[in-house]
Amino acid sequence: MKLLIFDIDGTLTSLDGATTRAYSKAFFEIFGKEPVTEGLSMHGRTDPLIFRECFERTGIPGNWREGYETFKPLYLAFLPDSIQNSPKARVHVGVRELLDILAASPDEFALALGTGNMEPGARTKIGYFGLNHYFPVGGFGDIHEERYMIMQDAVAASQEHFGLSFAPEETWVIGDTEFDVHGAQQAGLRCLAVATGGKYTTKMLAETGADAVREDLGRTQEILELFRR
Ligand SMILES: [Mg+2]
Repeated sequence: MKLLIFDIDGTLTSLDGATTRAYSKAFFEIFGKEPVTEGLSMHGRTDPLIFRECFERTGIPGNWREGYETFKPLYLAFLPDSIQNSPKARVHVGVRELLDILAASPDEFALALGTGNMEPGARTKIGYFGLNHYFPVGGFGDIHEERYMIMQDAVAASQEHFGLSFAPEETWVIGDTEFDVHGAQQAGLRCLAVATGGKYTTKMLAETGADAVREDLGRTQEILELFRR
């Protein structure tokens, strides 16, 4: 039995800046300032980490965790509209086909999410495309800043949900950034890196030491063979 832990942004879907727009709008609404995001990359980062960096760079006084608790519901309220107003929001090549095949083999594959998004944000994002039913559980960015902890959460939640224990070498993380690869490595898991996120090329991803690198999740049979190895 293989456990496959999928990242969302840049891996399953891309939202054409919808996240950043909802983020900035909520931040402004609460603190009366646009967040200072220059040079800040959201790719592969967790929600709490992005928020803390915005909070500190913008010079907001006080405790960032308290600010984050106020920020979360507002961000989540703005997110659906923001996605709807993103004409280029899309599911990546091959994703639906691959998920359909994986989900049709529940004795062979278990699916989970492993994302830096807070869970309700993650569910809103993939729910927009009707993908939630593939992923009964996951590890999310509600609490942790570090990606490997999110992956550990995804494994623990999967073990509980499926009633199985998944060996590290039977567990794959599928992601689009060096942070997914490093998180998987730190958690002792395997990683398939895909270049659909737009920030990391296959060459860059290969340099991270990922177990496998692909342009995208197309060529379904080839991807299945990889997971079956
Ligand atoms: Mg990503």
